[in-house]
Amino acid sequence: MPKIDLRYYCYICGHPVDLNPVVPAAPNFSQVEVHCSNCGDGTHLMLTSCPDCEKGVKYVLSDLDFPEEVLRLSNAYVQLIGGIKESLNEVAEFNVPLPKRWSVRLTCECGKVYTGEIPLPQLE
Ligand SMILES: [Zn+2]
Ligand SMILES: [Zn+2]
Repeated sequence: MPKIDLRYYCYICGHPVDLNPVVPAAPNFSQVEVHCSNCGDGTHLMLTSCPDCEKGVKYVLSDLDFPEEVLRLSNAYVQLIGGIKESLNEVAEFNVPLPKRWSVRLTCECGKVYTGEIPLPQLE
């Protein structure tokens, strides 16, 4: 996994924050929490790199804590399905396909089009 030097500029006050995260190759993502030392604002970065050249790091800024939103929604869905499954315990087989991942289409500067995948919580 490549480590990259990333300078992120706070979108509230413009203060630079230097990061040195480990970035997995697509389709894997890593999630990094960023806190601005100047204004205290926090945000999340989702990082992945091009599987071809490993240089084209893509990051998705999520000021709304987007991954958590996705996970929360997905969790609610998983619990709903779990509840239905329990109420149907007379039924021998009950399988609902749950999306395992949330796919994002990305384009690298080298021209490669690839897919990044954010894992979602699963029914146990
Ligand atoms: Zn700031
Ligand atoms: Zn590339």
